[in-house]
Amino acid sequence: MEVIPNIHYIPGIIANPYLIIDPDGLTLIDTGLPDSDKKILNYIAGMGRSPADLKRIVITHSDLDHIGGLYSLKKITGARTYASNIEAKAIANGKPSRPIKSGLTMRRVLMSIVSLWMKPRPMQVDEILKDGQVLPVLGGLRVVETAGHTPGHISLFSPKLSVLFPGDSMVSDDKGLQGSRPAVTWDRAKADDSVRKQAALGARIVCPGHGPVVTDAQDKFPKVDTP
Ligand SMILES: [Zn+2]
Repeated sequence: MEVIPNIHYIPGIIANPYLIIDPDGLTLIDTGLPDSDKKILNYIAGMGRSPADLKRIVITHSDLDHIGGLYSLKKITGARTYASNIEAKAIANGKPSRPIKSGLTMRRVLMSIVSLWMKPRPMQVDEILKDGQVLPVLGGLRVVETAGHTPGHISLFSPKLSVLFPGDSMVSDDKGLQGSRPAVTWDRAKADDSVRKQAALGARIVCPGHGPVVTDAQDKFPKVDTP
């Protein structure tokens, strides 16, 4: 589903993967739960493209619903893979980058069951991303360090198109954008800092890991009090 020309949202996958089209090939942001690789490759085929057209896979953070398809997509497409240092270590260890908080909510119980049942294959990503680094995507896609949801979470921002990919550092619903969901937030203060940092970028379009794409986003960022 086209968000704007050259940016597609791939529907029917938890969490939302985004596919970006550049003259040199395709870039995928996040890879959904395990087995999402088949849906992603079907979507690419539906665009009249081949698996080898996928040149890059960028991971916002190492939660299972963002890295599930990573191992097999790397194997099938040969795409270059990218993550921050902290999240890359978690992917290499096959373990989450932060503990799931104690306390019982239905969401935590479900997450624990899912993570016992579906385990990601550990793997080494090809390149470590740093804050401020610019990838050759969409005329320059900037890495924005957005810790809080997880310790090494990153977002991606295209100044040229004014599009932000915040991963799980912000999620959306009918009312607009919200910060990282409390039950799955590693550090609330850092998560709030990350929301403020991203609001200051002034993106027009926000493509979150969960919930619908938000357009005319400037006024829809969550209000986070300055500490
Ligand atoms: Zn997450």
